[in-house]
Amino acid sequence: MLAEALLEWYGREARDLPWRRTRDPYAILVSEVMLQQTQVARVVPRWEAWLERWPTPEALAAAPIAEVLGAWVGLGYNRRALRLREACVAVADGGWPEDLRTLPGIGPYTAAAVGAFAFGRDELPVDTNVRRVLERTGFVPSATPPELGQALMELGAMVCRAREAACSACPVASSCASAGAVVIAPRGRAGDGVRRERFEDSNRWVRGRVVEALAAGGELPEGIELERLERAIEGLIRDGLVRRGTDGLSLPM
Ligand code: SF4
Repeated sequence: MLAEALLEWYGREARDLPWRRTRDPYAILVSEVMLQQTQVARVVPRWEAWLERWPTPEALAAAPIAEVLGAWVGLGYNRRALRLREACVAVADGGWPEDLRTLPGIGPYTAAAVGAFAFGRDELPVDTNVRRVLERTGFVPSATPPELGQALMELGAMVCRAREAACSACPVASSCASAGAVVIAPRGRAGDGVRRERFEDSNRWVRGRVVEALAAGGELPEGIELERLERAIEGLIRDGLVRRGTDGLSLPM
């Protein structure tokens, strides 16, 4: 009952996202890795540009690492770009494995997403949206056709959101254990004793600026304390994302 209502709603209301129009495992893998850190609206043009530049796993496998890192700027965690390329090296060498989790950097969620959306397997990729919808509704799917996973994700992203459950407009409200009864904890506020770091103050932000600057072939970013800059650079070198040579810092080739 819930599954039927959900699928009917999904067929009617789903956003037209470009990676939903393909069964190409590489294209779907790229979308999943990009979406781990970045909002859908920002991913769409980046995904399209990426596939235009590297349309196949073989093309990405053959790309210089520095170019891959340069193209990833702004998409978060640069290690993901490296792992994506490593996965493509493995695919270019040996094809898509039966167990996708054997590919570098591919965890259970991404493996299930590619398995379901590209290979049509009966697997349910459980991301935070899907987990929340399952918990709130009490729904336990008896079968998991690929479209059901997409529909659960869409409901979690558009209707049954973490901080706003739009139960009055929800297509599955009549079968949902939590309809009208979702309790959303108030956000913390200044003075509640919980320290929150601005993104610009984080090491991740500094690392991103360093990679961005090196990808552009320019100088290191200005206006960042030397100590923070050095800490970020040391971390990038440790992670294999930056090299220190006799002529200074560079992205790996
Ligand atoms: S009825 Fe409310 S709690 Fe249940 S799935 Fe819909 S939005 Fe979420």
